[in-house]
Amino acid sequence: AENDFQNKTVCVTGAGRGIGKSLALRLAELGAKVIAVSKSDENLKQLVAQNNKIIPVCVDLCDWNATKEAIKPHLPIQLLVNNAAVAILDSFLDVKPDDFDSLFNINVKSIICVSQEIARDLIERKMPGSIVNVSSQAASAALKDHSIYCASKAAVDGLTRVMAMELGAHQIRVNSVQPTVVLTDMGRIGWSDEKKAAGMLSKIPLNKFAEVEDVVEPIIFLLSNKSQMINGVSLPIDGGFLAT
Ligand code: NDP
Repeated sequence: AENDFQNKTVCVTGAGRGIGKSLALRLAELGAKVIAVSKSDENLKQLVAQNNKIIPVCVDLCDWNATKEAIKPHLPIQLLVNNAAVAILDSFLDVKPDDFDSLFNINVKSIICVSQEIARDLIERKMPGSIVNVSSQAASAALKDHSIYCASKAAVDGLTRVMAMELGAHQIRVNSVQPTVVLTDMGRIGWSDEKKAAGMLSKIPLNKFAEVEDVVEPIIFLLSNKSQMINGVSLPIDGGFLAT
C-alpha cells in the first residue's frame, strides 16, 4: 500500500481544537477513516466543515458509560490517539480536590475507558493495532504551577508502559509522545506570558516552541508500520528540553 492509513479506521480524541484537530485532518488526508471525538459540538462542526469525510462523535470523555456507547458503533478501530486533556494550573499549596478529580478523569481515566473498548474488540477480531497517548514533557520534568497536570502526564506514561506490556501479545502497540509547549489554546494558558515563555525557551536547546505539525508527524510515525517494533516508549518532542 502507498501508506498505512488507507482502509484503516483511526480514532482521535480531543479532535475539536489544537493538536487533535490538525492530526484528524492530516490522517483524513492520508486516506484514513477518521473518528473525531470531542466535547463541544461547535468545534466538531468546524472540523467537519474542513473535511466532510471525518466522522464526528460528540461526547464528554469524563462520562465513562456514554463514552463506551459512543465508540461502539465505530468498531473496529485499529488506530487510536488519546489526545484529549485539560490543563488546570495552581500553585501546589492551592490545589483543589475537585480540580484533581476532573483533571485525572479526562487526562488519565478516559484513556483507560476508550482504549479498553477499542482493544477488547481488536483482540476478539484478532486484529493488530497501534495506540498513541499524548503525554507531555511535564510527565518527566517539574513545571511551576503544573503539579496535578505533571502528575496526570506521569500517570499517562506509566499507563502506556503497562498497556504496551499487556496488549503486546495481541500485536497492539502502545506508545506516548511528550511534546514541549505548543501555542494552542491550552499552550496559551501556561505560556502566553512573555517572561514565562522566555524562561521556558531558554531551557529548550532548539530555542523554540513546537508547532502543531511537529507533534502530528511523530504521532503518525508511531501509528504507522514504520514503527512496528516500537512499543512502550515515551518519545520527547521537545527540542532537547528533557535532555539537558
Ligand atoms: P486544546 O486545549 O487546544 O484542545 C483539547 C481538546 O480536547 C479540545 O478539542 C477539547 O474539546 C478536548 N477535550 C477536553 N476535555 C474533553 C472532554 N471531557 N471530553 C471530550 N473532549 C475533551 O489542547 P492541545 O491541542 O494543546 O493539547 C492536546 C494534547 O497535547 C493534550 O493531551 C495536552 O495535554 C498535550 N500537550 C499540549 C501541550 C501544549 O503546550 N499545548 C504541550 C504538551 C502536551 P473542546 O473543543 O470541546 O473544548
